[in-house]
Amino acid sequence: MKRSFSSQGPSAKKFAPWFNALEESLKDPALRVFEDDQITIIRDKFPKARFHYLALAKSPIDDLEQLTSAHVSLLEHLIEEAHAFVESNVAAKTKNPVRLGFHQVPSMKRLHLHIISQDFDSACLKHKKHWNSFTTPFFMDAEKVLTTLKEKGKVALDKSRAEELLKDPLRCHVCKESLATIPKLKDHIKMHDKDEAVKEPKQ
Ligand code: AMP
Repeated sequence: MKRSFSSQGPSAKKFAPWFNALEESLKDPALRVFEDDQITIIRDKFPKARFHYLALAKSPIDDLEQLTSAHVSLLEHLIEEAHAFVESNVAAKTKNPVRLGFHQVPSMKRLHLHIISQDFDSACLKHKKHWNSFTTPFFMDAEKVLTTLKEKGKVALDKSRAEELLKDPLRCHVCKESLATIPKLKDHIKMHDKDEAVKEPKQ
């Protein structure tokens, strides 16, 4: 899967059908968990952790590179509401940290902020690309994006370099231990899962 698209007048015809799928999901009440006049938060349909949501602005912005100084207050609002959502709906359900951030090179159209708990306990997390997209600098913290936008008036990216990060060797996001395969990694990260201890032991 090629994780890139042009922000210069993208033509939907050039891309796979799923490229625009977030547009449809935004309309689906079963996926929508928060909405106000400026933003919508939906469930990620293929969650890569126990708690995984996407926050999107209602005014369509394709990607990070389309952000300008004019979007600072919208981005502030998006991040503030994402934090508020975590506080009200997630924090009491997990002891694991929850990170907010953007993929430097998204696979889906419409700028979306990932809200993701750091257990990474999900059958949907299958590949090295999945793992590295959330645990290397390919994942840009929301606050870093906001600070960059405020300081520079834009978010400049080196997309080729970002995509190289997806090929990095597998490493635990907590202790940085190297693991040879995704199954070994998934087994390893259970030891860092702050909710694992309270689960019923397997019979
Ligand atoms: P990204 O790689 O940053 O573009 O992330 C896209 C996210 O959208 C992934 O976490 C997918 O699991 C998620 N996703 C894919 N298709 C849908 C859909 N139809 N509705 C909601 N989320 C989706």
